[in-house]
Amino acid sequence: MAKDKILFYRNPQFSKCPSCKSIGTLHRSRARNMWEQIVRKTSFIKTYRCKECGWRGFRSTLIFTKKSLKTIIVYIVLMALTAYLAQYFILHYAMN
Ligand SMILES: [Zn+2]
Repeated sequence: MAKDKILFYRNPQFSKCPSCKSIGTLHRSRARNMWEQIVRKTSFIKTYRCKECGWRGFRSTLIFTKKSLKTIIVYIVLMALTAYLAQYFILHYAMN
């Protein structure tokens, strides 16, 4: 079901330009510096440029839903708890 989806993949090339609001004018832009290269390689944020108005900036290719953010927090808490318990048991049983 769609409401259970955590992440939505979105191609910014088909979304609105934040500056001139035209649709379908964004295209991938080359990274200009180290910082942009790092961001591009390590995240789902890419550099885009608008053909119409020349706007240039970062757009995310993934969007989180409000509901999904809660789900992610729950997952993180559960993972941390599991990791903590696993560590506890490993230490407890390995040492005795
Ligand atoms: Zn534009």
